Amino acid sequence: MILPILDTATNNLLEELQKDFEISFETKNINYCEVFQKNNIATIYYNPEHIDTSTIAHELLHIWLTKFNYSIGNHIFLSTKSDKKLSKVLNKFLCDYITNCCDHYKMYPKFIEMGFSPDEFLKDSLEPKASFKDVKRLKLKFWGIYNSKAINVYIGSLFSILADHVENDYTQHFLYLKKLDYDLYSIISDFWNKWKIFDIKNIDAIYNSDLDLANSFIDNMTEWVKTKKIV
Ligand SMILES: [Zn+2]
Repeated sequence: MILPILDTATNNLLEELQKDFEISFETKNINYCEVFQKNNIATIYYNPEHIDTSTIAHELLHIWLTKFNYSIGNHIFLSTKSDKKLSKVLNKFLCDYITNCCDHYKMYPKFIEMGFSPDEFLKDSLEPKASFKDVKRLKLKFWGIYNSKAINVYIGSLFSILADHVENDYTQHFLYLKKLDYDLYSIISDFWNKWKIFDIKNIDAIYNSDLDLANSFIDNMTEWVKTKKIV
């Protein structure tokens, strides 16, 4: 294991996490940092040629979040994978992406607290997370038949905009997405508004349940697809 040289805040976080997790570092020829985690064993892959401790801190924060043991994207994927219509839309890639957006929202304040700046949080951190040109190209249905890929892109785009940690102007995006399908827009933005205030540190099966939150999203999506023909 070759340990990268870390700044104090990242090193402190690493030491704190090592009480609960077995964390190792491996070098890899990649231009960004990534983490592979199974239960309490995590491997962080990084490139010593382009070492940037903010990206290590970012991955460590993903590990830190697993302590709270919430399940959003994975729960949505497992609960809908046998549903003919929903499984076409909520595929594994999108569900993992939703988890990532949810994680990022909850870890960003700690990232800033550690002394990093907003531009260090992600690659192309300050850029708009979806271009209006791409959003405008979206068509959900053709001759009354819905396209599952387009719905998938709609959901992914809206999540990435909502989860943006910097204040980009998405006025046009929101207007267009609402015009395209107001109900779908509401399902996603309602979920996101609840996620923003969800207390990950005090999960409770009755009063503060991550599964209830994910289930209400699934219920709303089930209702939304019910009357639609989706290919
Ligand atoms: Zn991330």
